[in-house]
Amino acid sequence: MPTLSEVTAALDRIYPRHWAQDWDRVGVVCGRGDIAVRRVLCTVDVVPETVIEAIERGCDLIVAHHPLLLRGVSSLDPAEDYKGDLVHTLIERSVGLYVAHTNADVADPGVSDALADRLGLRDTRPLRPLEGPEHEGTGRGIGRIGTIPATTFAAFAEHAAKALPPTAWGVRGAGEPGRTVRSVAVCGGAGDAYLADAVAAGADVFLTADLRHHPASEHLARGGPALVDAAHWATERPWLDTVAGQLSDLADDVTVSDIDTDPWTIHQNSGVNRVES
Ligand SMILES: [Zn+2]
Repeated sequence: MPTLSEVTAALDRIYPRHWAQDWDRVGVVCGRGDIAVRRVLCTVDVVPETVIEAIERGCDLIVAHHPLLLRGVSSLDPAEDYKGDLVHTLIERSVGLYVAHTNADVADPGVSDALADRLGLRDTRPLRPLEGPEHEGTGRGIGRIGTIPATTFAAFAEHAAKALPPTAWGVRGAGEPGRTVRSVAVCGGAGDAYLADAVAAGADVFLTADLRHHPASEHLARGGPALVDAAHWATERPWLDTVAGQLSDLADDVTVSDIDTDPWTIHQNSGVNRVES
């Protein structure tokens, strides 16, 4: 049975911490290096539901995508905030926590590769390749762009809704439903900072999460690719299978959380599912 430090060292080799963006906080959050790791739970978010799941499954380590503690804290008082309570629970139950976030986004295979695979993209390459001698020609970078057999945007949106893990949010599309799409750009998580990269790469459609009115509207008015705004959790959940596979030789029991930690729990509209222009 490996120790926690053996498992986290293996993760550090797959997802070197220095690949993370400067503002990010990755690596070990808590957990003594000498504890034995028999079971691992891979999650997108560290929230009360996934911590309970880890305890109920008897896990010794949570490997999460999103940092629990991104900004500086001066208190872990469990009475003050749920995050303090979660840290107490993890330590009391001897569950370690490790985070691979933007370093997993840029890895190859990384978060957007898993997303691209779910959608059936072929011949993928990074949307914004990582620069520098360490990354030259490695296929590392943010987002991916690849191709699918030509279809309409409406059909692609329908395909994406079915191919991604189910959520109340589903997907919403922006752009002419009948336009032909063949070149598809994707970015797991909030990808609106990469709209210009999708344009420059010649994508017909860009699928990401957390798109907002003004950037989306202005992007389309300038003739940019159609947009699919998927649930944030659903765009990153596919990567959990990747990391679980990478750990399968090391730990006896590696499971993936399928608790939908997307905050949106209801999605209603007035019955208008498509607006033809
Ligand atoms: Zn994310």
